[in-house]
Amino acid sequence: RFPVRVPRAGRSRLVVLAGPTAVGKGTVAAHVKEHHPEILLSVSATTRAPRPGEVDGEHYFFVDDAEFDRLIRDGELLEWATVHNAFRYGTPKAPIEKALAEGRTVLLEIDLQGARQVRRAAPDAALVFLLPPSWDELVQRLVGRGTEDEEERARRLRTARTELASQGEFDYFVVNDDVARAAAEVAALAR
Ligand code: 5GP
Repeated sequence: RFPVRVPRAGRSRLVVLAGPTAVGKGTVAAHVKEHHPEILLSVSATTRAPRPGEVDGEHYFFVDDAEFDRLIRDGELLEWATVHNAFRYGTPKAPIEKALAEGRTVLLEIDLQGARQVRRAAPDAALVFLLPPSWDELVQRLVGRGTEDEEERARRLRTARTELASQGEFDYFVVNDDVARAAAEVAALAR
């Protein structure tokens, strides 16, 4: 079993969903988006290339290095990080500020480095850690989706070990053994 901390009292309107590679953060976030249209799911900018089926502006804003540099320089990102020592990912600030000003809840699906930056920028943010049912299950999911080669998988699993060791920094834990239930738990925090 993974350790679970007692949740902080109260609710936050800025909810960060983090967790190791292939745990299903994207799937859970997409489920929240579909069933809770009142919650804004932040769309990140990234320098990585689109995967088959990914739509620019919907899954990510796909940008080149020069444009990412500009976003950083102009202070347009709430946080950003180089993930898996490969590509840069960042959260555009403006849509979040607008949504929060309108009283909406915002969900960020980002990595641990980003979660730490959001914590510093917005101490009231709720940090949610999505857990796999087990380590073996995590490895199976990563292999099963088949979108990374052997070297990239090994890299991601190293990052995952580090991230799993950082659970103490989070406010809430959700086990992703069932997407609908996990999404419902996340949405319940985001109110
Ligand atoms: P993928 O390339 O598989 O879509 O995402 C790789 C990793 O980047 C995931 O762990 C995802 O959570 C993280 N990520 C996606 N968007 C952002 C972002 O805006 N900021 C940070 N720090 N990480 C992100």
